[in-house]
Formats: sequence, structure tokens, C-alpha cells
Amino acid sequence: MTQDADKAAIILTDDHRVACSGEGGALGHPRVFLEMGLDGEVVCGYCDRHYVLKGGPADKSAR
Ligand SMILES: [Zn+2]
Repeated sequence: MTQDADKAAIILTDDHRVACSGEGGALGHPRVFLEMGLDGEVVCGYCDRHYVLKGGPADKSAR
């Protein structure tokens, strides 16, 4: 597994509601709560991280 900081990461999560604070350092930002809609995904407006609900409509790896 490699970590590519250049691209927006997709993060699978079990919860409709996620807290994002970036990852510290240059990418860090104030902690915010992100609420997923029915899509089962949300993108953080600060760091562009893409949160996907595990097993949700937007989870391409669920099948
Ligand atoms: Zn963020």
C-alpha cells in the first residue's frame, strides 16, 4: 500500500457522519463534521478528502 498525498483520498467509513481535521501538518485544518446524504458519500471542503460509506451506494468495493 502506498500513500499518495497528491490525489484526494477516498476513505471508507462506517458512519454517515464523519469528523475530518485533515492529517496534521500542511494538510491539517480545523475539525469539521461532515454529514453524508443518501448518496453515502461526502467530500471535505477543506482537504478534498472523499468519504464513502462502507457498503453504501458509493462504495465501489462493496461487491
Ligand atoms: Zn478534511
